[in-house]
Amino acid sequence: MSSTSPPYVLLTVPHARCSAISHRVHDCDYAATRMATKIAAVLGSAGVKNEIVIGDVNRRTLDLNRRESRYTADFRERIRQLVTERSADSRMFTLDIHSYPKHHEWAGTAGYPMVFLYAGGPAPAWVGNMAALIRKNIDRGITIIDGIGPVNDIQDELHTLGFEAVLLEFNESNTAPTEEQLARAVREWAENL
Ligand SMILES: [Zn+2]
Repeated sequence: MSSTSPPYVLLTVPHARCSAISHRVHDCDYAATRMATKIAAVLGSAGVKNEIVIGDVNRRTLDLNRRESRYTADFRERIRQLVTERSADSRMFTLDIHSYPKHHEWAGTAGYPMVFLYAGGPAPAWVGNMAALIRKNIDRGITIIDGIGPVNDIQDELHTLGFEAVLLEFNESNTAPTEEQLARAVREWAENL
């Protein structure tokens, strides 16, 4: 891989599988698969190769974004397989896609349309670029919470293996037009990768 290799974006959705009590305990991310699909579509239209890996286990059975699933879940094995294969001739970027309920907040971010969570120190320029484009398109708050610990294991493992990854949390109360604005900003980011 070199800096002139084409970009490739891997989208991961670990908390896609809901259960009979998801409406009470939020054990799945209601908007995550939809947002990953929208983002994949805009990446494709920007000419950026991408693939989505969707989790098939409810997080109360096994959390696919925690250390205990790293070597026990097919979902995690599939991610490792894709990054190994695709990174041979592409610049790899992983967007780990999640969503949160309306009233949840991290550090005063309630009502924000989305939050970036970056592990392991200050977020790199490509993450900042995406956030800047989203801020330009959306008149509400966007923030990057960086330097978070290794709890988000998909991102943490990929960083350990030397790959670029960030976790994107989308607000489940976003309207359809807001989701479109977010997706358009990601497209603009992809066009400049
Ligand atoms: Zn999640």
